[in-house]
Amino acid sequence: MVLQIELGAIRANWLALSDRSGKARAGAVVKANAYGLGGERVAPALYGAGARDFFVALAGEGQAIRPHLADDARIFVLSGHMEGADLDGLVPVLNSPQQYFRDRSLRPGQPFAIQLDTGMNRLGMEPAQWAAIRDEVLAEGPALIMSHLACADEPDHPANPMQLAAFHAMTEGCNVPRSLAATGGILLGPDYHFDLTRPGVGLYGGLPFAQARQVIRLSLPVIQTRDVAPGEFVGYGAAWVADSPRRIATVAAGYADGLHRAMSGKGANLYAAGTACPIVGRVSMDLITVDVTGLAKVPEALDIICPAQPVDALAELAGTIGYEILTSLGRRYERAYL
Ligand SMILES: *Cc1c(COP(=O)(O)O)cnc(C)c1O
Repeated sequence: MVLQIELGAIRANWLALSDRSGKARAGAVVKANAYGLGGERVAPALYGAGARDFFVALAGEGQAIRPHLADDARIFVLSGHMEGADLDGLVPVLNSPQQYFRDRSLRPGQPFAIQLDTGMNRLGMEPAQWAAIRDEVLAEGPALIMSHLACADEPDHPANPMQLAAFHAMTEGCNVPRSLAATGGILLGPDYHFDLTRPGVGLYGGLPFAQARQVIRLSLPVIQTRDVAPGEFVGYGAAWVADSPRRIATVAAGYADGLHRAMSGKGANLYAAGTACPIVGRVSMDLITVDVTGLAKVPEALDIICPAQPVDALAELAGTIGYEILTSLGRRYERAYL
């Protein structure tokens, strides 16, 4: 089970999104272990491409990559200052007045950022909370003021200009670097770029960055091959029955490896050097069965994520989004970096 990760493609995607960020500087979102691809390898590769501002969800994720980045790299923690968090060497993004006062009493003089809620109602200070402490916060010199768009992957969604206007209203005259756009926001254009952008999924080859270079190839070894006669079934629930003589290969990965059971019977394929082999029967925890009748010779491994079936194509078949496929790819894969 080899998950091949092309660091050069991640770097190229960062450079492309940095270019699309116009005058703004591009950061890099490496939360959830760099979307499952390995933060300790991905973050230094992005630093090598020029990224200096990294975003993680949790302080622990920040501590995991801190030793792999030079001192001039800033690591922002999106969950802010939670009780007991080890924020040494990190920059918490403070989401509420409570987090702000906790942080200032425990980390006086240390760098911090502020998150404002412009309508998503998930994280950040609400307009009235912000108005009440804004002058005091600005006197402390935040490193960044940011907010997050709920619908940036739908360019025509009315929430985009609404959140943009709210962000302007809340940050006018602050004289602090501002950040609003993730991958989708970068593609909305210069009005959304401000001073720093925060691309995540596009770095890893996912939508909404349709021009992204693909980053991963996932190959699953064939454990066993067998011939089944018409009328024989394959897998749990006997959900698939052969209507003609078929050759079936069983490969070593399943839903415990992030290959969701929901993709059973939805037309997903595995690929042998570009030749499609349909998944048959149900995806089990550690195994997937594949119809390889069309192959002259069954290879040692078949690809489930490859140029013919990129992450977002597989996600659609599983009824989810590329983000969830990437972050579900489990710990059982050997990660090979190119
Ligand atoms: C996850 C996240 C990002 C990155 O979003 P993508 O859509 O993956 O580019 C940026 N900002 C915040 C606050 C996030 O939570």
